[in-house]
Amino acid sequence: MRPTPPPQTYRVKSFGCQMNVYDGERMAELLATQGIRPAADGEDADLVVLNTCHIREKAAEKVYSDIGRLRREDGSAPLIAVAGCVAQAEGEEIMARAPAVSMVVGPQAYHRLPEMIEQAALGQRSVDTDMPAQTKFDVLPARRKVGPNAFLTVQEGCDKFCTYCVVPYTRGAEISRSFNDLVEEARSLVEAGAREITLLGQNVNAWRDDSNRGLEKLVEELAAIPGLARIRYTTSHPNDMTEGLIEAHRDIPQLMPFLHLPVQAGNDRVLKAMNRSHTVDSYLRIIDRVRAARPDIALSGDFIVGFPGETDAEFEDTLKLVERVGYAQCFSFKYSPRPGTPAADMEDQVPMAVMDERLQRLQAALSASQLAFNQASVGKRCTVLVERKGKLPGQWLGKSPWLQSVHFTADAAIGDLVEVELVEAGPNSLSGRLVSAISG
Ligand code: SAM
Ligand code: SF4
Repeated sequence: MRPTPPPQTYRVKSFGCQMNVYDGERMAELLATQGIRPAADGEDADLVVLNTCHIREKAAEKVYSDIGRLRREDGSAPLIAVAGCVAQAEGEEIMARAPAVSMVVGPQAYHRLPEMIEQAALGQRSVDTDMPAQTKFDVLPARRKVGPNAFLTVQEGCDKFCTYCVVPYTRGAEISRSFNDLVEEARSLVEAGAREITLLGQNVNAWRDDSNRGLEKLVEELAAIPGLARIRYTTSHPNDMTEGLIEAHRDIPQLMPFLHLPVQAGNDRVLKAMNRSHTVDSYLRIIDRVRAARPDIALSGDFIVGFPGETDAEFEDTLKLVERVGYAQCFSFKYSPRPGTPAADMEDQVPMAVMDERLQRLQAALSASQLAFNQASVGKRCTVLVERKGKLPGQWLGKSPWLQSVHFTADAAIGDLVEVELVEAGPNSLSGRLVSAISG
């Protein structure tokens, strides 16, 4: 590779989960401290970071086509760094297959990007997929400017080894960040403009500190930060749903009435084959306890259809579970074999046409459930955190406490918290009528 002048501009493209969005923001902040500025819209960037996702579909193939598309009309290309979970899983292979890539950096090593960029400018390629003892969080720069909703990664990695999932291999073992570091980062996010913080983790409710304090203690501490109006957390695992966290939904007003609790399937044989370590019944009992603590809670989940060996009757059990829970919104996916995971080698892989049909039926049921939840909200008064302008003059968009998109027309600004009455519901959003502005 030929030496190039050090990059002046960057673009970070994040794919996949919210944790990747958070990592992308932190990489951008890190690059800014190196004097590299974000490329303007339409401007070619000197450095492009592809922050990849490996969870489903042909993620790796997509990375190669994205790399190809970065070549400019005159045949030149930016410095390219591949980050995220594909980088972790396929580091050396990316180097071998894509000579245009200068840097491959895993999700636990991206704080080392500045050194890698220096080497790349000298014409040297590098791969860093270490999971170092000194974590990135100890060296990343402080948060500076954020919008009204900010993400805060509190926990990373996973020890659960669901048989379909690549996360334990790409993100490593479960680690929890320290209580004090998190409180400090939350404070700096609020100073930088955040009014709502979403705590993130692959299993966020598995967060514990050295003194064995659970997530509810962290939420309690963050709720005392002046100016922080709302707290959310995602994604939770049913097995880590403690009584303390359930009670926090009853006791802490800043903790929003929303719980994303993936179940994946509605049949115990399938759950066992997935190594989910919960049953349909134990999941439903958690839901009952959460609803007893916070009756208006909005429930969300993740589903996989077509796990190897899933029969028609077992899939019907998933539809029954959807009906029983009454979800407010959900994510649903076709099973995708991930190389290296146990399920990828299981017999009885379900044909694509069957998965397509099941996904369609599941999504129809989930949409109906979402519409019913939204319609049941009509007539309620609630706060909306304003996130952006709508398409119509004077229109604003924001989120209700139940994470519904709400649009309304009024004199407002991004970051305002307003009170609206919900007057009309569609499947994906509601319209509200302004009752009062709570704060600007
Ligand atoms: N830790 C969370 C949990 O256990 O519920 C989920 C984290 S995972 C990154 C997000 C979602 O991706 C999972 O809940 C699952 O529905 C989906 N997923 C993971 N691996 C998948 C695969 N091989 N095929 C299809 N969907 C998958
Ligand atoms: Fe993947 Fe299961 Fe861990 Fe969730 S709990 S990240 S689905 S292995």
